[in-house]
Amino acid sequence: MENVVIIGTGCAGWTAAIYTGRANLTPLVLSGTQLGGQLTTTTEVENFPGFPEGVMGPELMTRMQQQAEKFGARVEYKRVEEISKNDDGTFTLKTDDNEIQSRTIIIATGAAPRYLGLENEMKLVGHGVTSCATCDGAFYRDVPVAVVGGGDSACEEANFLTRFASKVYLVHRRDELRASKIMADRALANDKIEPVWDSGITEYLTDDAGEVRAVTLKNLKTEEESELEVKCVFVAIGHVPNSQFVGDLVDLDDGGYILQNPHSTSTKTPGIFAAGDVADHVYRQAITAAGQGCGAAIEAERYIADLDG
Ligand code: NAP
Repeated sequence: MENVVIIGTGCAGWTAAIYTGRANLTPLVLSGTQLGGQLTTTTEVENFPGFPEGVMGPELMTRMQQQAEKFGARVEYKRVEEISKNDDGTFTLKTDDNEIQSRTIIIATGAAPRYLGLENEMKLVGHGVTSCATCDGAFYRDVPVAVVGGGDSACEEANFLTRFASKVYLVHRRDELRASKIMADRALANDKIEPVWDSGITEYLTDDAGEVRAVTLKNLKTEEESELEVKCVFVAIGHVPNSQFVGDLVDLDDGGYILQNPHSTSTKTPGIFAAGDVADHVYRQAITAAGQGCGAAIEAERYIADLDG
């Protein structure tokens, strides 16, 4: 019987592990498929306090893991498929290869990139459609590419891609970016980035090898369609929370985000806590995820102390 199982190894998960580790609860951390979470697919993080020169995302996550392991956290490379409540109030976590019993659970599974939902899109991931400029940008040297979206992610990816691509089209469905001013200004001032306003991609066009060669664009105001030659589309239109496995034990909002009790990381089931992007559609920052991980750890510790009387 574990004291606490933490599902997820992003900022929320590792922070919860550091705190529950220091509370002598020897947390078990289940990594899922992406050890280190979303920051492992980014480059420089400029806004995590304590790093005035910035820090590389993967390095930040490795350091968090080392810090958690120093305090007794154990990590296993498993994916949780289902959680259920036992008669005595403890929980069973069914993973891809075993069952784990625990007194508390901290869900810190984050969110996954959202795609456009076009026909053949998922088949083209890795063949000219991707959500990760850091991972795939270097494959597209001296060719035109497109980024879809108008938020901070889209601007950041577009800027990053100018290191490789001959031209970066920033395709946005409105004529104004959602991104913070500093990120938007930086993108729009870059000569290699050309915004394509009021437009959406309606079709991926492929060559004989099955790789993207162009897209069909639709101007959403005039309904006019055109073809844009690009070798890769970087989709940066937000994320979907990884909450599909939680069943009835927690409530979700319309977007699939886990509902926490007010001013708490607790959920409708005592002993289950949620932290980070899986429960936060408002801030979605590394530092706020870490803060929630800390909160969940403190609440789990108090819950266990109450059980033990
Ligand atoms: P976001 O802020 O939710 O922006 C998503 C963008 O995609 C919006 O411009 C949205 O258009 C567009 N979009 C959504 N669904 C679409 C669809 N089906 N088709 C076409 N376009 C669609 O997401 P994000 O950029 O990933 O940022 C998420 C959070 O992370 C934010 O809080 C952001 O500040 C933060 N972030 C921070 C940094 C940084 O500070 N370094 C970097 C990246 C992200 P509309 O504008 O029309 O809604």
